[in-house]
Amino acid sequence: MEPRTLPQRLEDAEHAAADTLRHGAGLERIAPPPIQPEARRIADSTLSAMRYVSDLANFGRGLEASAQPPTDRTAPASPRGSVGGRPIPTFDMASRGHDSSDFQDTRYASVEDAREHSDLLINRVLQKLDDHPLPANFVLSKPLEELARMAMNEPDGTHSQADSGRVLAISGWLDANYLGTTLSGRFGAAPPILTNESPALFEINNAAEGYSGGGNGLYLPFTNHVMISAAIANPADRTCIIAHETLHYAAFLGGGHDGMRYRDAEGKPTVLGHVPWLHEGLTELHAQQLVRSHGTTPTYVGYPAETLTAFYLQQIAGADVTRAAFLSGDFTEVRRSVDARLGNGTFDSLSRTDNGTDALAFLVGRMDDAPVRVERSVWDRNPVARIAWATPFE
Ligand SMILES: [Zn+2]
Repeated sequence: MEPRTLPQRLEDAEHAAADTLRHGAGLERIAPPPIQPEARRIADSTLSAMRYVSDLANFGRGLEASAQPPTDRTAPASPRGSVGGRPIPTFDMASRGHDSSDFQDTRYASVEDAREHSDLLINRVLQKLDDHPLPANFVLSKPLEELARMAMNEPDGTHSQADSGRVLAISGWLDANYLGTTLSGRFGAAPPILTNESPALFEINNAAEGYSGGGNGLYLPFTNHVMISAAIANPADRTCIIAHETLHYAAFLGGGHDGMRYRDAEGKPTVLGHVPWLHEGLTELHAQQLVRSHGTTPTYVGYPAETLTAFYLQQIAGADVTRAAFLSGDFTEVRRSVDARLGNGTFDSLSRTDNGTDALAFLVGRMDDAPVRVERSVWDRNPVARIAWATPFE
């Protein structure tokens, strides 16, 4: 038997620490009141131990990645994916994701290549704005021509050392255990390429898409290209945005970006396709939880209403099932859990809501009116939920 490498041993330690944390949290929930403060302290100290181990594990992965040619980072693909050791149910009639070998021409190997793609994108956005002029009440910070010039000429497309570290760490966190073996193989075959772009690019893209706020990152489907705005200075927020865009990419490879679907109890398939609010909410939820589990605390939660809706779905259906649905697009198990808890038809009605705010209002209403009332107060103490509730919804 081969001796286990340093990164493998660190990963073992990471898993053991995660198990201890889970047990500590479980203990805290069931412990009688006099023991609870001590159980809380155990959970807290295990969490901080886990962060140290994760940092070490990431360091180990970074060392390994820099010592190996890139192809050696590719995880072996298996015909059937699994999450947390459990197979992902197959779904034959709808998209089961995009193989990274499907987009040879748009799979970028370097920041320079991806920057050329940024220029293409800017031209496409400008064309769109030419064809569909902005509504009269839409305010740009500068004349469009000036924004376009800035977006083309002033991007800091180069990687900072810190951003390179972020992309490497996030790619390490998205391992076979997190993504499942098949998706991990696809992801490893075409790792994400990050470009740092002028804030002007995001402003004109947001204008073309019709939203006035937000938007400091982008993932470009059918590529491995993720972007972040140079305007984001906070290191934790940069990590979270890069994680968010990278998770869009992973979900694109898995089928979760545009292939949302489920089977009913009789096995009849329904294709939902792309449900923007649900996909954004699940993406931000997973990004927040991923970076926080590795010791990074962002200062804000994007898409608060969408993220809260995704968070409650996750509490009802479970983290492994929800992550598998997010990445693969197959919501059969999530739908089953939601309907079992909140009544038949709940998931279908939820999936037909138009936006995150409506979805959240609908889901909270159903939880509060459920035959066995869903007690949200414990869930709402979660830091992501707390911050999201404190953020104004768009
Ligand atoms: Zn997004």
